[in-house]
Amino acid sequence: MTASPVANLTIADAMAMRERLRKVSDTPDLDVALLLCECLAKPRSYLYSWPERELDLAQIQRYLSLLARRIDGEPIAHILARRDFWSLPLAVSPATLIPRPDTECLVERALEMLAEQDSPAILDLGTGTGAIALAIGSERADAQVVASDFFPEVVALAEQNRIALAVSNVRVICSNWFSSMKGLRFKLIVSNPPYIDPQDPHLDEGDVRFEPRSALVAGNKGMADLFSIIGEAPNFLLPGGELLLEHGFDQGALVRQALRDRGFVSVASRNDYGGNERISWG
Ligand code: GLN
Repeated sequence: MTASPVANLTIADAMAMRERLRKVSDTPDLDVALLLCECLAKPRSYLYSWPERELDLAQIQRYLSLLARRIDGEPIAHILARRDFWSLPLAVSPATLIPRPDTECLVERALEMLAEQDSPAILDLGTGTGAIALAIGSERADAQVVASDFFPEVVALAEQNRIALAVSNVRVICSNWFSSMKGLRFKLIVSNPPYIDPQDPHLDEGDVRFEPRSALVAGNKGMADLFSIIGEAPNFLLPGGELLLEHGFDQGALVRQALRDRGFVSVASRNDYGGNERISWG
């Protein structure tokens, strides 16, 4: 009989390996828990109810290999190929931005704006995984949502998420911002465009290193795509329609000014869950 390479590893022992993630992760506890859930095919509550349970050999090997990828810096969302956003389990790939909890503020504001509208037409520009469009579409079955992205592999991923979540009122299309929207008019246009300054040192840290630059970075200190969307959006809005944008914590004043200059009224901003100015609208 041969001895197993790692004998008697309990859930508690596996959780204690969080220490190996201190250098790469701000959330080592959550990371080890998510990796263990994946290997055991159990919910998080199981880990805390059965800490003394032993992993079998296949589970140990899988756990150690996933943990090694995380130690190398790979984002949890890429290792699991999944990220929850607004209660929706979304497939994620290295072709897209990993949905952020802060973007849920944009969904909240969109739903507030739509509260008085019947069957509103909505556009989500640069949809990525489809996170925003699918969250709005699943909350508002009467809405007609168009979700667009420039990259065909991203469009395919958003469509895969749409089908998996059975959200039938979202249509995913390929478009370079408004290029495929001729003749269409919307009550609400939303976007979380790339808005990071190419010089931002934050691009060399953590998960963003594994995300596509095309989803993160824009010229003109990160403002180029925000300005171009603000410039074009009025041509695609219904009377009384609104534009709602995510932006960097220090870009709110510039976005509000650009909205006013383009003729938007009732311009305002709101903070994200971290207390940073994150969304603006008009
Ligand atoms: N909020 C993200 C970050 O700072 C960037 C998202 C984006 O560029 N749209 O990592």
